[in-house]
Order: sequence, then structure tokens, then C-alpha cells
Amino acid sequence: MAEITLRNIRKSYADTEVVHGVDLDVSTGEFIVILGPSGCGKSTLLRMVAGLEAITKGEIEIGGRVVNRLEPRERGCAMVFQNYALYPHMSVAQNIGYSLKIAHVPKAERDRRVREVASSLGLEEFLDRRPGQLSGGQRQRVAMGRAMIREPKVFLYDEPLSNLDAKLRVAMRVEIRKLHQRLGATSLFVTHDQVEAMTLADRIVVMNKGVVEQIGTPTEVYQRPETTYVANFIGTPGLNLIDATADPDKGLLTLPDGQQLAYDRSRWPDVGYGPVTAGFRAESVRLAAGGIRGTYEFAEELGAARLVHGLFGGHTLIAHMAGSRSFAVGEALSFVVDPSDVHLFDADSGRRLSETVDGVVTPAIEAPAKAAALM
Ligand code: ADP
Repeated sequence: MAEITLRNIRKSYADTEVVHGVDLDVSTGEFIVILGPSGCGKSTLLRMVAGLEAITKGEIEIGGRVVNRLEPRERGCAMVFQNYALYPHMSVAQNIGYSLKIAHVPKAERDRRVREVASSLGLEEFLDRRPGQLSGGQRQRVAMGRAMIREPKVFLYDEPLSNLDAKLRVAMRVEIRKLHQRLGATSLFVTHDQVEAMTLADRIVVMNKGVVEQIGTPTEVYQRPETTYVANFIGTPGLNLIDATADPDKGLLTLPDGQQLAYDRSRWPDVGYGPVTAGFRAESVRLAAGGIRGTYEFAEELGAARLVHGLFGGHTLIAHMAGSRSFAVGEALSFVVDPSDVHLFDADSGRRLSETVDGVVTPAIEAPAKAAALM
């Protein structure tokens, strides 16, 4: 049984619909990340699960119960926000134990549970401090502790790490993942950061303008993005995408500047003659003779590797390159891409084309009404 089920969830503010019918089944203990850019409706969706926003249409079940009409506190969820919302005049111990206090849990029991939670978050030595005397990361842990002590069945996280500096964000990400492994609570986590989504999630829900574009494991959304939107959003950098004209007899794509790139014909059985959107990962590119030819623009230094940007008939394409070879601006580049690393999408809808994976044909996904048209 799914711990959380969303059925055709819609949300309108006045006459404007901002969430256009979301369906999702979350298994018990699963860590789901809802990922999308600012304004795509991810917080609204989470707040509807929490009971902080009314649902305009659809049904939400938590633990087998329809919760549409239940108050937030009756839903068994604990929420961790971006602004930690700690009580500034209370100590860390009092902040963590507050919900037990208002539930009249006896002091000895309360203290024991506060110590237990604080110890699992590495906060024992800060129990007497006020939030103002803590770092951002420590405050975030107190906020987590306050949620954990209620032993919720479901954790809801609304961009909890976005106020932290980059290094701390990485550290907290690891802590949240470890905590999840220990507690196993079903979790919904909202973020606009695809790296955060990739590293935390069992499955990612990629949203765009109030519509779900794809639901899949981090590997699935990376290896088989179902739309050009997902392809571009996931990965550092996103998939290189370029307009092309396909010749299925030869298994060749003609790029806008007339150069040709081979794709694996046996993998894409339904490609017709005509326009497609072709894509390949920066990680799939080798810099070697005999590939598509362009000129060097610049490189993003990553330390162990570089992202080399090249201009190919006016389009920028990016290669992930190890090693320290340097280039001059305008120098000739040749990008070699293995035909089996080329992804193909419908030129109009941006949906992934029908594909043969391990001998089985995976049909193209029906194009839903275009997200943009619904906004
Ligand atoms: P995200 O979390 O992805 O940044 P939100 O869920 O906060 O996006 O918002 C989705 C859309 O709903 C946005 O266009 C936003 O402007 C709109 N919205 C959010 N809250 C309200 C509100 N209380 N009244 C009107 N529009 C709102």
C-alpha cells in the first residue's frame, strides 16, 4: 500500500490554475524529491499534502485515509521549512521538546526523548543554547529535531537547505540521507536544485509549470529523460540539445550547419525522415578527430575536469573533459559522440521518441496538453 497517494490534484488561486492534475504514489519509507524551477507549483503541492493549502480538486490519501478535510495536525506529517521558524527565546532543548510539552508529556520522558533526538543529530552539546547562538546548519538540525521528536509517519521538507552556504548544504544533504536511512520515514522533499534531487531521492518528480514532466529514479531521469525539459534540467550541465533532420535509412542526423551525426537506428525504430531534436550528454563526448567540427569558446573549470564549450554552426555544445589540455579561443574542436549515446525527441512536443531498450520497444509517451498552454 502506498503511504501517500495523490490523485489528480489541482490547485487554483482565483481563476488561475497553478497545479494541473498531479498523480503520485509514494511507498512507505520512500524518499521522493519534487524538483522544478521557482513558480512551478512544487511548494503548493507540498503544502496541500501538509494541509496548509486547500485542494481545489482531487484526493490525497496518507496511510490509507483520505485527508482532504483533515487539519494539518491530524495528518501525521511533520514539516521542515527553509526558514527554520525556531522560537528565538527558547533553548535548543525547549525548541526540540516544545510539541511534547504542549501535548503534556511528562518532563522526564520529554527530556529523555529530547536527548535521544539531539544525540542522533549531533546537537547534545548545544542543548542550552538559544537559536541566535547557533550556525545556520545547527539551526537547521534543530528544526529537523523538532520535526523528528513527533515521530511522524511522513516528513515534508520545503527547500530546507536553500538558506545554507554551499558547503553546508552538501554536508546537510548527507546528514538528511543518513537520517532517512536510519528512520525510514516516508519523505517528500521540495527543491529547485537538481544536484540535491539526484543525491537525495529514491525517485524524483520533475515539475514544469504545474505539470509533472517525469517521475523516475535519479538514474532513470538522467539516462532516459522523457522530455527535452527534463533532459535540459537534469545533469551538470543538462543534455546538449540540437535541432536536426533525421535520415532513418542511413541512421544519420543532419545538424543545422550541414554536419552529420550518426545515431543507433536499431534503438529508435519510429524515426521518420524530417525534423527531430537530438541530444547527448557532455560526458558522452570525446575530443578526437573525425567528429563534428566546431570552434572553442571557453571552458568551465571543475577542478578534476573541465566543461569545454564549443560553437557548432552557431549552437553551443558542451563536452566534459578530463586532463589539462588548453585551447585558444576560436581553435578548431572535434566532438566525437558514440551513436548509442544519442537521444532523440519529437521536434514539436519535445517528448522522447519510441525506443528499443534491452530488446523491448518502449513506446513514446503520449504528449499531454502542453504545459504552457495551461498556464
Ligand atoms: P514553487 O514552490 O515551485 O516556487 P509555488 O508553489 O510557490 O511555486 O507557486 C506556484 C504558482 O502559484 C506561482 O505562479 C505562484 O505565483 C502562485 N501562487 C502561490 N501562492 C499563491 C497565492 N497565495 N495566491 C496566488 N498565487 C499564488
